[in-house]
Amino acid sequence: MNITEIAQKDRNAVLHPFTQLKDFATGKLGDPTIVETGKGIRIQDAYGKQLIDGFAGLYCVNVGYGRTEVADAISRQAHRLAYYHSYAAHTTDELAILSDRLVKMAPGKMSKVFYGMSGSDANETQAKLVWYYNNLRGKPTKKKIISRERGYHGCSVVSGSMTGMSFYHDHMDLPFSQIVHTGVPHYYWGATPGETEIEFSARRAEELDELIERLGPDNVGAFIAEPVLGTGGITPPPKGYWQAIQPVLRKHDVLLIADEVITGFGRTGSMFGSLHYGIEPDLITVAKGLTSAYFPLSAAIVGEKVYQVMEDGADRVGAFSHGYTYSGHPIGAAAANAVLDIVETEDLPGNAREVGAFFQDLMKEKFSQLPIVGEVRGVGLMGAVEFVADRDHRKRFDPALKVGARISKAARDRGLIARAMPHGDILGFAPPLVATKSEIEEIVAIAEAAVRAVL
Ligand code: PLP
Repeated sequence: MNITEIAQKDRNAVLHPFTQLKDFATGKLGDPTIVETGKGIRIQDAYGKQLIDGFAGLYCVNVGYGRTEVADAISRQAHRLAYYHSYAAHTTDELAILSDRLVKMAPGKMSKVFYGMSGSDANETQAKLVWYYNNLRGKPTKKKIISRERGYHGCSVVSGSMTGMSFYHDHMDLPFSQIVHTGVPHYYWGATPGETEIEFSARRAEELDELIERLGPDNVGAFIAEPVLGTGGITPPPKGYWQAIQPVLRKHDVLLIADEVITGFGRTGSMFGSLHYGIEPDLITVAKGLTSAYFPLSAAIVGEKVYQVMEDGADRVGAFSHGYTYSGHPIGAAAANAVLDIVETEDLPGNAREVGAFFQDLMKEKFSQLPIVGEVRGVGLMGAVEFVADRDHRKRFDPALKVGARISKAARDRGLIARAMPHGDILGFAPPLVATKSEIEEIVAIAEAAVRAVL
């Protein structure tokens, strides 16, 4: 089938996520990009045009494209046993091995792993676990879950409500009433004049404390957050943030869910964002990097404290009645084991630390002096450049000017995918964790040319 026919079929029949439907239908967005192959940090479209993927798909292809070790593991498992479920104590060798591995490598005191297919459904599971846990221990009102403005946790009903950016679900009857939001820890925009990062973090923790008091500690079950805010603008926490937040949660007996969907498996330069920032979660959400997106697989990793209550309550309530047809899919487990082998043997957290430090320095060197750049930020191999109309007075551009989107497009025209983040004028980077220093130089050079073209 030729390219025109494929494009036509796509326009006729695919409902694309996060796409302006009218602009796509009428051709204003151009033809769909038909992505055909990928190798290392690059993808190639149907016309043979190569693009550097500076965003690892959607921060997920951490081991890079075209890894035959992973493809072979998937093929072997599909030939041997394509599927069996994990209900009622059925398992496969790959699933048992993966789960043991995750419990041992995850931060905090973890006990069990529950599997899904996406970060969204894993966070949906986390909410149900919080409610189940509190019902079983006789605290049936302790149900509200606090997340942060600009946090991203998915787009299903509960996870979408946790997502603190309303434009993701305007007109879709979210948020769900048990979800409440608290302030985003973004020092650049949120600090008052003269406030230090530590003071700002303490203020955010006090606000959280006040919010829990206002809602009533007996009504608050959990706090969910990304160790590093991702889709809300790739924003590392200010100094002292996690150290200030965690005592508030402990004081009020509120569970901490670390959403490690982006930060899990090396992106920050540590195996988990929680390890990087000294976070001790009760529940951990992972997806994306777990299989480097070679197969859809996510997990809710359950800490001992929560699991023990579930086990102790089983005689009273019967079976744990939650699960998907594809929970613990053997091909997903085989893919994850092959990916984690690469993550460990190639020390991808170490590469993200070393090449990431080079990347952060280079971004600062190339961008921070430009007149339209307000902040350059990041950690490991995730970073962002935020553009402002007035650096001295920290004023945003008029959104109608679409500065971020124009810069992202200019980068793409020059062969680089760097994402215009949905909130503000922000160019985001999250290349595969196998990126080398010379590939980072290429990425930053193209991004600099793109910024200068729009300046
Ligand atoms: N949590 C975080 C931190 C994410 O970044 C995402 C997706 O970007 C999700 C959850 C949702 O994952 P999915 O798109 O696989 O449902």
